[in-house]
Amino acid sequence: MARYVYDFDEPSGGGRELLGGKGIGLAEMTLMGLPVPAGFTITTDACRAYMQTADLPKGLEEEVAEHVRRLEGKTGKRFGDAGDPLLVSVRSGAAVSMPGMMDTILNLGLNDDAVEGLAARTGNRRFAFDSYRRLLQMFGEVVDGIDPHRFEDALSELKAQRGARQDTDLTAEDLEQLVRTYQEIYTTFPAEPTEQLIRAVRAVFDSWETPRAQVYRRANDIPDDLGTAVNVVQMVFGNKGERSGTGVAFTRNPSTGANELYGEFLANAQGEDVVAGIRTPQPVESMAEVLPAAYRQLLETLRRLEERYRDMQDVEFTVEDDRLYMLQTRSAKRTAAAALKAATDMVDEGLISREEAVSRIDPGQLDQLLHPMIDPASAPEPATRGLNASPGAASGAIVFDADAAVARSATGPVILVRFETTPDDIHGMIASQGILTVHGGMTSHAAVVARGMGKPCVAGCDELELQNGIARLAGTELREGDVITIDGGTGNVYIGEVPLVAPQLNDDFETVLRWADDLRRLKVRANADTPDDAARARDFGAEGIGLCRTEHMFFGEERLAVVQEMILADDEPGRRAALERLLPFQQSDFEGIFQAMAGLPVTIRLLDPPLHEFLPSEEQATSDKMRARIRSLREANPMLGTRGCRLGLIFPEIYEMQIRAIARAAKSVGNAAVVEIMHPLVGFPEELRRLRDLTERVWSEEAPDVPRAIGTMIELPRACVRADEIAADADFFSFGTNDLTQTTLGMSRDDAEGKFLARYLEDGVLERNPFEVLDQSGVGDLMRLGVERGRGVKAELKIGICGEHGGEPRSVAFCHGLRLDYVSCSPYRVPVARLAAAQAALAEAGSAQYVAAGG
Ligand code: PEP
Ligand code: MG
Repeated sequence: MARYVYDFDEPSGGGRELLGGKGIGLAEMTLMGLPVPAGFTITTDACRAYMQTADLPKGLEEEVAEHVRRLEGKTGKRFGDAGDPLLVSVRSGAAVSMPGMMDTILNLGLNDDAVEGLAARTGNRRFAFDSYRRLLQMFGEVVDGIDPHRFEDALSELKAQRGARQDTDLTAEDLEQLVRTYQEIYTTFPAEPTEQLIRAVRAVFDSWETPRAQVYRRANDIPDDLGTAVNVVQMVFGNKGERSGTGVAFTRNPSTGANELYGEFLANAQGEDVVAGIRTPQPVESMAEVLPAAYRQLLETLRRLEERYRDMQDVEFTVEDDRLYMLQTRSAKRTAAAALKAATDMVDEGLISREEAVSRIDPGQLDQLLHPMIDPASAPEPATRGLNASPGAASGAIVFDADAAVARSATGPVILVRFETTPDDIHGMIASQGILTVHGGMTSHAAVVARGMGKPCVAGCDELELQNGIARLAGTELREGDVITIDGGTGNVYIGEVPLVAPQLNDDFETVLRWADDLRRLKVRANADTPDDAARARDFGAEGIGLCRTEHMFFGEERLAVVQEMILADDEPGRRAALERLLPFQQSDFEGIFQAMAGLPVTIRLLDPPLHEFLPSEEQATSDKMRARIRSLREANPMLGTRGCRLGLIFPEIYEMQIRAIARAAKSVGNAAVVEIMHPLVGFPEELRRLRDLTERVWSEEAPDVPRAIGTMIELPRACVRADEIAADADFFSFGTNDLTQTTLGMSRDDAEGKFLARYLEDGVLERNPFEVLDQSGVGDLMRLGVERGRGVKAELKIGICGEHGGEPRSVAFCHGLRLDYVSCSPYRVPVARLAAAQAALAEAGSAQYVAAGG
């Protein structure tokens, strides 16, 4: 029969997938001889079976009962015992960490008899009833869905009656009375401990399917069928008195990566108080004074854990009567800056190799460092300051709840402002640019989740008053929609919008990227249309321009009038006369770009969009002729109309002018970049053949001695399928996966996103937005065909990608697998692509080693 339960000290052979992250950590810490309370893990197999049948798998209850008996044997305590009761916590733990997503129940095993046993045994009646009222509240909330406010209100009311400021000011009698009040609120609490346990296990399994967990999984790309394990752990008590407490600690600073202890500690409290940000904790160093022995042991344990895992760890611990217990260890969530610093430090310390350092950094997370930040030179005085909980700056309209965040984010950036956040706010946090909370510390829910998402967060901003949809800040009243700016790197909060500047790469970033550059095979270029963009791209390490769009060279005050004149001209000579006047402008544009990219390849794409984009709307037309022309150029579906090379073939003089401008610029800039002229939207080999002839002819007139390459974008399924024929006239291909996705899927991006595609993603018809993450099995398969057929006739054919996907880590890995020569993406994503390309090479080398080893 299938086995579903393992004690922490029993080998399972199943690892993290089977035991979940928390379970494997507890098992491994137990094995290392660290102080871990006794307990057992119910596997993810059991959860998956439960999800399939909506019932606990056969035999599970008996197996749990057997492990409870063993736990009773180990601890010498019995479930429900009126003398010395066994109490356990029930904690969820999936293979992938989902902070705050799943539910935990503490003090399970208490009832009216056991609470007396606990009071007698500990000689601490206050503690016993405090534990009991917590169980009633947590169990009621998690298992029976009782509104938590009903418990909280009862507690606040009692505190008010007694004039108590803190929970700890309440006496044993007060708490006994509170238990009775809770029992009136929650009448169906099961007294029998085994029943409590089984119902709690079910509730944890159920919590895997809650909307907030689903939203979190979707946002973090976690498969829905992983399931969660359940850990049943003997209770240790941090709320037993002043010799007890609870805390969280990181082996390094999760915000900066500095190799220093970082954490928070709360005396005389249970873990939930810290994580939920209900009471404001002390820095963990404060333990050194009050609990010196446990503190020393904690330091030693952290050292051993980091050595064992060779990675930064984040732990939860409890001290009960001076004794330290470890409740969790896991690889620490950290900011991108911290990840880079820790990685380079660990290489310096000899703890990990450069390859490991490179493979550990989440390329998507680097985004955090590549966003604009507040310009220190021009920043005004902040209105107030909170904790710098997650770095980055953001401006946006204030919203006060998660649903409003989602609604308003459709029209512009929003900042979610809350007293504190809970897992129920997750959809609002995803929709927001940044998060500001009044309450809570660096390890509060808001701080932890924001760091994980790479969003700016300022927490614990206690000068901010929130009431009835109004925020009061430094004497100003702010309402929903008013704009504020937060800087999660400094904790500063500003009223209004504050100017942001481009980020600077720090030394750790440069170091890791240099290591990545040594490892990758794919080249990384940038999509850049102006000398400024080109220069920025170079700063970020771009090895060329993979796509220089030229549309903007037809706009601009002095140019648009000439372009319109060209479009309105009656015949070719008329058009040529206008184009003649455009040429010098464009030549100088190209000169600027070639100078910025001296020595590197620059791929210039000739004009792509339909001509009517350069004309005003019919109502705004200034003449009858223009009105008529607008009407004649109107297309039912411009996306599939006279655009791309079709335009170039119908009005060859436009492309001719562009080619002439490029050739003259290349000739005049001495150390010119390597020029690659690219024709858009080719579908038939004859299109490219004719355009190649045109390009060659003009080039030989202007700059016969200057080298150039002529190629095409691959943006149509037909071009992929007939890549062999098209390759005959191409020196290079560049996959335009924006259009290739539209044309393969038959979805116009503008009409899909925010409309039916949003629904598809919500309903799970599609897992990902194919315009962001390459549809590998559909669009990607066409690309594969294009590469095979193109290189089949021309082995040296250079192939790249310049659609948005070129900067998306998974898509970059896919391009590596296709053996493309380069990816090209926006300048800000160049570092992300460099890292992703290195990781793809490492993964390939890793699997090659695996094959070589006969695995
Ligand atoms: C593409 O289609 O992928 C592309 C890069 O071209 P554009 O986005 O300009 O259509
Ligand atoms: Mg395109």
